[in-house]
Amino acid sequence: MDRLTTYRAKRDFDQTAEPSGRKAPKTAGGLYVIHEHAATRLHYDFRLELDGVLLSWAVTKGPSLNPADKRLAVHVEDHPLAYGGFEGIIPSGYGAGTVILWDNGAWEPEEDPHEGLKKGSLKFTLHGKRLKGSFALVRMKRREGEKRENWLLIKHRDKYASDETIAVDKWTRSVKSGRTIEQMAKAKGVRQWKSKGSPKAETREAKPRTAKKAKKPKRRADDSLPARTPV
Ligand code: MN
Repeated sequence: MDRLTTYRAKRDFDQTAEPSGRKAPKTAGGLYVIHEHAATRLHYDFRLELDGVLLSWAVTKGPSLNPADKRLAVHVEDHPLAYGGFEGIIPSGYGAGTVILWDNGAWEPEEDPHEGLKKGSLKFTLHGKRLKGSFALVRMKRREGEKRENWLLIKHRDKYASDETIAVDKWTRSVKSGRTIEQMAKAKGVRQWKSKGSPKAETREAKPRTAKKAKKPKRRADDSLPARTPV
């Protein structure tokens, strides 16, 4: 079965600018990406390139550089490689909301990644613009009746680790456009943006609003986070 069957089944590509993944871009391999995604609930999609697709986990609280912070990472469907460059607005349907590229770079497995995925312990090094150093994804035991596969994203102790929770509060802008998620949500022309790239839409894009500083909502415990984008 095509690795992207589930991904495609959830989306209507006439409606969304997300890539269908029919044409895979050439990469040097080992792409690493984190998307900040303000859907029904804000989360961070953690993606690692392997075997021509992006393995993906939805991390509710986002990553942290503190090894004591074990962040819940729900395994989700593989995404196409082309998704690695995506940001914009998913207008309706599955995952509706705003997406910015929160971090990207390369990743390196520290052990055989296929073995690691099988046994539920993936150890790797990130060479991102923001996140660097050694991390692990560890699969939790599945409880009875649990449909989702829950993993934990954990920072290993190394020179990039911190005793403080250094995480998504430290960096709030896209590594691609420089926009915050709030600016992306309000940006003109983004809705018309298609993965093929329409030059017309590009020129209509509004400049990020910098004059009036958007008040960033305080991040509290996951459960009290307001839904930022109506679905
Ligand atoms: Mn998502």
